[in-house]
Amino acid sequence: MRLGKTNGDLSASMPQALQELLEPARQLAKDDSVWRGHCFVWKKPGSWVPQLTAWLSPRLRAGGLEKLKPRQFRDLCWDDSDWSRVLDKCVTADVEYHTSKLAEAIEPATIRAYHGCRTDDAGIYQREGLRTHDRAEMIARLQAVVDARPELKYFKDRLPDAIAAIENTLDIGALYVVADDQSLIKHAAHYLIYGSEWISAVLGHSYRHVLKTTGVPTLLEIDLPLRMGSLATRKELATKMLREWARLACNRPDWSAPIDFTFTLRTNVPSDWLVGHSHPGELVDPLEHYSTYRTPKPECAHCRAS
Ligand SMILES: [Zn+2]
Repeated sequence: MRLGKTNGDLSASMPQALQELLEPARQLAKDDSVWRGHCFVWKKPGSWVPQLTAWLSPRLRAGGLEKLKPRQFRDLCWDDSDWSRVLDKCVTADVEYHTSKLAEAIEPATIRAYHGCRTDDAGIYQREGLRTHDRAEMIARLQAVVDARPELKYFKDRLPDAIAAIENTLDIGALYVVADDQSLIKHAAHYLIYGSEWISAVLGHSYRHVLKTTGVPTLLEIDLPLRMGSLATRKELATKMLREWARLACNRPDWSAPIDFTFTLRTNVPSDWLVGHSHPGELVDPLEHYSTYRTPKPECAHCRAS
């Protein structure tokens, strides 16, 4: 059975598991055009799984879906690479080939991405966009923090040495956004609790607590065109999409895989890509032995004004 021929004619005799998998994709294009202008959210599989089912359907070998056995539980962890092996039995050519093709096909699509920061007013980002790491600007911001805080009086003289001691130059000109906020909040909430990782590193364990006294932990939501990611990044994402597609089809979990997936951008994010923000009320602080951080007042100036 080649699904390219059968998708428009779902037979009543087709097992229900196959029908449930195919039905949401029935009206969708079965080629690369299904991704053109499509906007999806990783943690909402309903926003991309039907498109991937449609895109995959002409790539399945005869009897491929029967081999996949939708709904048949496999004892594999969500991040087990063997999900690729499960899919490999169902497709023509091999998964590696289709992964490369999917990486090309999703280039005109848009994914909801997230950026963690600490700010008084998230509206600034929605008005001005997000900028890449400019070291001179960060030094000026750090200097302003040090100048404003009496408890940093004695640190002031040591500031040039403290800056020189942090050798990280990788962040310069870069901006990081992630495809899954679940992972960011669970494993890297220090971006929200302290803001800039570099400023936090310069202040160090003794002084970084001052960063918690202004602003509020903020999760910015960005609709990121996938053309902003490199082909290699899109290939990594395509790998995760195909594995998750197989897992969702077989195990039918009611949760999405909590992927740790970062896009490293080298250009600013314009304001019209910013589509919203939130202020998580409770976070786990990886810099303080994974203790719980509770946001005193989870709102910013933009929230209060609207
Ligand atoms: Zn707000």
